[in-house]
Amino acid sequence: MTMHPLFLSHGAPTLPLEDVPASRFLRGLGREVGRPRAILMVSAHWETQVPAVNAVAVNETIHDFRGFPAELYAMRYPAPGDSALAARIAALLGEAGLPAAINPRRGLDHGAWVPLILAWPEADIPVLQLSVQTALGPEHHVEVGEALAPLKDEGVLVVGSGSFTHDLSSWRLGTEEPDWVSGFAEWMDSALREGRTGDLLNYRAQAPAATRNHPTEEHLLPLFVALGAAGQGGRASRIHSSVEHGVLRMDAYRFS
Ligand code: ZN
Repeated sequence: MTMHPLFLSHGAPTLPLEDVPASRFLRGLGREVGRPRAILMVSAHWETQVPAVNAVAVNETIHDFRGFPAELYAMRYPAPGDSALAARIAALLGEAGLPAAINPRRGLDHGAWVPLILAWPEADIPVLQLSVQTALGPEHHVEVGEALAPLKDEGVLVVGSGSFTHDLSSWRLGTEEPDWVSGFAEWMDSALREGRTGDLLNYRAQAPAATRNHPTEEHLLPLFVALGAAGQGGRASRIHSSVEHGVLRMDAYRFS
């Protein structure tokens, strides 16, 4: 069964504690996708100079946030790793001219475990994490994804985990979604659905309010990995759309 790559918006770390449209969507996602052989999470919260993939026996749960409720720090997602698959991923990247590092210690940050604990709460599917290279921009991340395209036919689900919009400076301003958030999201949605990859790669110049919605790029770059991982001719379909705190669009896409 082909595992079509996904982009998910992971939202605030408190998402697993909330009953909102985005958490309800993620709670149903595991049943909809089925059971992959393994899951590769490309998280906005692991930034490195060159691509890095973790290779561990059991993933540690990284609570990489401050000032949240105690029950969040008690949450664990002890999914097994898969060292052989980590080596395969590093080899695929290397063959594409993208030398990759293997990290034998890194666990799962909240960009990885927040969606996973909702979608596959049993934590019994092997999970690996791959880093982003924020300085290298969208095109590099499409190339990383393209190198990993064979994985979808090997039962490995590639998930980019970020945020469709991510202006944290406007956090808590209100709950009404401003035009500059919806305008950016609709531009991106059209470009994704119509397969306008050139426009997407140039989104910072072309999309309305791009730099306001993404002052830095790390929360959008996982989307480009998922786009590339679908391979040539991959098409995006929106599988979820909602907004949290007015400015965080929680949209999700499948690339098939
Ligand atoms: Zn985040």
